[in-house]
Amino acid sequence: MNGQNNLVDMPLSEFRKYGHEMIEWIADYLEKIEELPVLPNIKPGEIKSKLPQSAPLQSEEFSKMLNDVDKIILPGVTHWQHPNFMAYFSATASGPGILGELLSAAFNTNGMLWKTNPSSAELEETVLNWFRDIIGLPQNFRGIIYDTASVSSMHAIAAARENINLEIREKGMSGAPKLRLYCSEQAHSSIDKSAITLGIGMEGIRKILVDSKYRMIPHELEKAIREDRANGWTPFCVVATIGTTSTTSVDPVEKIVEICERENIWLHVDAAYAGVTAMLPEMKVFFKEIERADSIVANPHKWLFVPIDLSILFTRRPQILKQAFSLVPEYLKTAEDSVVENYMDYGIQLGRRFRSLKLWFVLRYFGVEGLQARLREHIRLALLFAKWIDEDSSFERLAPVPFSTVCFRAKPTGCNDENKLNGLNEKLMNVINSSGKLFITHTKLNNIFTLRLVVSSIRQEERHVEQAWKLIKESLEKLLSENNIEN
Ligand SMILES: *Cc1c(COP(=O)(O)O)cnc(C)c1O
Repeated sequence: MNGQNNLVDMPLSEFRKYGHEMIEWIADYLEKIEELPVLPNIKPGEIKSKLPQSAPLQSEEFSKMLNDVDKIILPGVTHWQHPNFMAYFSATASGPGILGELLSAAFNTNGMLWKTNPSSAELEETVLNWFRDIIGLPQNFRGIIYDTASVSSMHAIAAARENINLEIREKGMSGAPKLRLYCSEQAHSSIDKSAITLGIGMEGIRKILVDSKYRMIPHELEKAIREDRANGWTPFCVVATIGTTSTTSVDPVEKIVEICERENIWLHVDAAYAGVTAMLPEMKVFFKEIERADSIVANPHKWLFVPIDLSILFTRRPQILKQAFSLVPEYLKTAEDSVVENYMDYGIQLGRRFRSLKLWFVLRYFGVEGLQARLREHIRLALLFAKWIDEDSSFERLAPVPFSTVCFRAKPTGCNDENKLNGLNEKLMNVINSSGKLFITHTKLNNIFTLRLVVSSIRQEERHVEQAWKLIKESLEKLLSENNIEN
C-alpha cells in the first residue's frame, strides 16, 4: 500500500524499499559513470519538452519517478562526478559526503538557534574548530557555515562595513561617505555582487593591477588607497585572493596585510578553492601571515569532496559580524541566549540546514592524512599535465601552477596570429567538449583565449589525466589537418 489516499507520509515500508533502491541506483551510477558522456549532448528546451506542463493531480508511483530519472533527467545531467570533468573547479561528492547529506535531510532540523538543534550548533562549532586547526589558523578564529563563497564573502564585507562605525544599521547608506573596496582585477565576480548588494556599488570597487603572474601589486594598492583618501573616499575593505578563479594566482597576503593594518582596513581573504590546501605543510608558502587577515573563506564543497553546498567563513572578529547581523525578535528569545551561540546572529538567513554533518563524515571517514594524500595527488597530476604541455612544441602554458589548475593553449609552430590562435583554441575546446569524453572550460588572459584544466575530483587518477592529454593532442591534430590551418 502506498500513502497516497490516507493523508499520511509515504509508509516506512515503501520508504525502505525505494530508499534501498535509490542507494543501489546511486552506487550503479557512480560505478558506471565513466561510460556516460561527461557533458550531455542536449539542446536548450529538450528536457523541458519531455516533462509534463503541470503537476499531477493524483498520486503517482515512486517507481515511475525513478524511471523518469533514468529516461528524462539522466540524459540532461552534466556529470560533475565524472573523473573527466576537468572544468571550472569541480565539486565532487564522496560516499561519506552523500550519506551525510541524506542524514541531514532526514533530521530536517532548522538550526537557527542552539535550542532548535543543539547538536547542529555544537557539531558545527566543533567540526569548524577541527578544520581551523587542520589548516593552521590560530584559535582566535571562529568559523560559520554558509551555502557558498559568494555568500561568505558578502557577510565578510558587511562586517568590514560595520567595522568602520557609520551606523549603517540604523541610518542606511544614503548618509554615509563614499566607501571603497579593493581587490585585484582577477578577483571573483562575487566580490562585485557583494558590492552591488551592500549598496557600495560598482563605483565603490577599485580593481588593483596585477603583475605578470596575475598577483595583486601591493604598491598599486597602497597608491590607490592614498589617492582615494585624498579624494574623499573612505577605504574600508581589501579582498585578497589565494587561488584566483582564472589562473589560481596568489595575492601576496603578507604584504597586503601590512598595508591593511597600517591603514586600519579590514582584510578578507578569498581562498574558496585553494584554502583547503593549507592543510599541507608544503603549501604553507601560499598562506603566509594569513592569521593577520580579519576573515577568510574556504569551500569544502570545492576541493574537499563534500557535496555542494558548504562554504566556511573564518573570522577572528566574530563579534563584529554579530554586531552587523544580530536581530532577535521576541519569539526567538530563549533562556540559553547568554550561554550559547545562536547561528542566526551571524548572517541574513534565519533558517539553516544541518550542513556540518557531511563535513564531519568526510573528515572522519578519510582522516586528515587521507585528505592530505588526495590533495597532494591532485597537485602532482596537475604538475604532470603542465610538464607535458611544457614539453610539447604545439602547446604553451599561460600561467604558473601553484595548485591543481593548468592554464594553457594550443600554439602550433609557425602560428603567431593572435586572432587565429584564439579561434583555433575556442574550436579545440568545443571539439573536445562535444566528444563527451572530457569537459574543460576557458578564461581570457590579456585577451588570449585560455584553456583551463583542473584536477580536483576524488575520482581522478593518473589514467584520466593521460586520457585527457591524449584527447587534447589528437583533437588538435585533427583540427589542423581538416582546416589546413597555417600561419
Ligand atoms: C568558486 C569561487 C568563488 C565562488 O564560490 P561559490 O561558492 O560558488 O559562491 C569565489 N571565489 C573564488 C576564488 C572561487 O574560486
